[in-house]
Amino acid sequence: CGIVGCIGRGDDTVNVLIDGLRSLEYRGYDSAGIALGPTLTVLRKAGELDALAEVVDANEPTGTYGIGHTRWSTHGPPNDRNAHPHTDENGRVAVVHNGIIENYAEIKSELEAEGVTFSSDTDTEVVPHLIARELADGVDAETAFHQAVDRLDGSYAIAAIIDSTETIFAARQGSPLVIGVGDNCTYLASDVPAFIEHTRDVIFLEDGQRVRADAEGYTVLDDNREPVEVDIETVSYTA
Ligand code: GLU
Repeated sequence: CGIVGCIGRGDDTVNVLIDGLRSLEYRGYDSAGIALGPTLTVLRKAGELDALAEVVDANEPTGTYGIGHTRWSTHGPPNDRNAHPHTDENGRVAVVHNGIIENYAEIKSELEAEGVTFSSDTDTEVVPHLIARELADGVDAETAFHQAVDRLDGSYAIAAIIDSTETIFAARQGSPLVIGVGDNCTYLASDVPAFIEHTRDVIFLEDGQRVRADAEGYTVLDDNREPVEVDIETVSYTA
């Protein structure tokens, strides 16, 4: 299973995401998908990456940043409706997640009691709905992301795009997540091979860290939302 993301690659975004997912195939998966912004577009499909690639070719999506996912299902069978990215009811938020959200049942009951309708069997789907609830309260996109992540117990690497903020938000706790630092672009992935053909400059995130990546670059934050200094390592191996 794996996560990819990139911002700053303009029209190449879709190809960067699909190629990145192919580089993570070795990690195993049963479904795959991508989400693109600033006009939120979500394409996802159970099965091989070729099945997703066919959907992508048929839809010719456009977008200048995005996130992608290969799923190894833990909650809910491997089918199209459980494939990531997952969204909220109004199509404002798209989320990909690797890992397990231990307290999802409690959060799901809470949201359902408020009238939220779920459209998958996954633990992951609580995340876009939590973010959407914050947005509905008038909270800005970044704060909404942090508030949602603060609610989660378990292990996760999460990436999200929200409204048309032209930003990728991400968080790591117990599942791998790395940043690739490019020229005027930023990559996110579960592992370095996903972007090694684009950059060798890598930040290995620590548990509890979060990321905001936009046209200006990236900021790594701790779980108190304070920016932290990070080391960029130049990796030498070839993919
Ligand atoms: N627990 C999530 C699901 O079952 C994510 C699985 C994964 O790590 O790919 O959809």
